[in-house]
Amino acid sequence: MQFIRDIYARKQAARQPVISFEFFPPKTDEGLAHFFDRSLPALLALKPDYCSVTYGAGGSTRDKTLMIVDRIQREFGLTAMAHLTCVNSTRDQIRQIADQARGLGIHNLLALRGDPPAGAGDFRPAEGGFEFASQLVAFLREFGGFCIGAAGFPEGHIACKEGKHADWRHLKAKIDGGADFVLTQLFFDNADYFEFRDYLADGLGVKVPLVPGIIPILSGSQIKRFTALCGAALPEQLVADLERLGDNDEAAIQYGIDYATRQCAELLRAGAPGIHFYTLNRVRSTAQILSHLGLAPASPASPARTDP
Ligand SMILES: Cc1cc2nc3c(=O)[nH]c(=O)nc-3n(C[C@H](O)[C@H](O)[C@H](O)COP(=O)(O)OP(=O)(O)OC[C@H]3O[C@@H](n4cnc5c(N)ncnc54)[C@H](O)[C@@H]3O)c2cc1C
Repeated sequence: MQFIRDIYARKQAARQPVISFEFFPPKTDEGLAHFFDRSLPALLALKPDYCSVTYGAGGSTRDKTLMIVDRIQREFGLTAMAHLTCVNSTRDQIRQIADQARGLGIHNLLALRGDPPAGAGDFRPAEGGFEFASQLVAFLREFGGFCIGAAGFPEGHIACKEGKHADWRHLKAKIDGGADFVLTQLFFDNADYFEFRDYLADGLGVKVPLVPGIIPILSGSQIKRFTALCGAALPEQLVADLERLGDNDEAAIQYGIDYATRQCAELLRAGAPGIHFYTLNRVRSTAQILSHLGLAPASPASPARTDP
């Protein structure tokens, strides 16, 4: 399997965007079976360059995350990255997970701080654990053998009271400590990404890929819930358009496809190194966006039969 930094370097040299997909571990056995039998084959038929699998809140999916990444790599031959957070983990437990990942041939980790469980207030590190993702990055760099990704926030991280520039300087510390690339939080106004990129690249001399994360809207209520959790802003026009569509989720999905297509097209024209799709394990929207962008393979899967 490849180091993701090498994928970005190779594609950048060929002037091609890197397309990556993010998945979450399904909760139930039935969901997992559907994911491996239906959703994943259809998504991978879209030929992403790599994929990543999230790490459940509080470290709840630790084994499942590694198991899914391992299966994707072995059964589908695609480079996959495991997300890893500091939540509820001591340094020794993190070392065990890194050992386990290395033993499975997982070469790529997204090093995150993670969030406290809902209602638990501010983040508190586990005793003997890490307070910031930068410490996890440094630990993994010293551990050795991994390509390391980090999270970036084009609007600033929701909990950074000193504002977005302070948050972006904290991101610079992750990169200086060894992060090889950055995947951003979802956002809906490309101006936020351009300001973030210019501040880091032109202002702070960051050279690693800063990869926009894009989420296809599935419904008005879903996207309001997501953005409230992560602090991303919804542009006024987008809110008004979704209000107009009301409970018509089918129309909202189509609207989301068109919106994300326009967003991605502008980002790629402006030199973004690729797009990281928050697929939510669904096929249809990501497939159509890639098709509209002219980035889908000639005979993509039939998404209608794969999404729940
Ligand atoms: C692409 C992507 C994937 C994600 N995947 C997952 C996942 O799988 N599982 C999950 O639980 N969560 C996930 N998250 C969410 C993420 O864990 C949360 O947003 C979390 O609150 C911040 O994580 P971080 O790694 O950016 O933390 P950090 O980089 O540690 O930043 C956290 C806060 O601390 C501040 N900070 C950092 N360093 C310092 C310092 N030295 N002094 C003072 N303040 C500082 C930052 O500005 C920020 O406000 C993901 C986020 C993104 C963007």
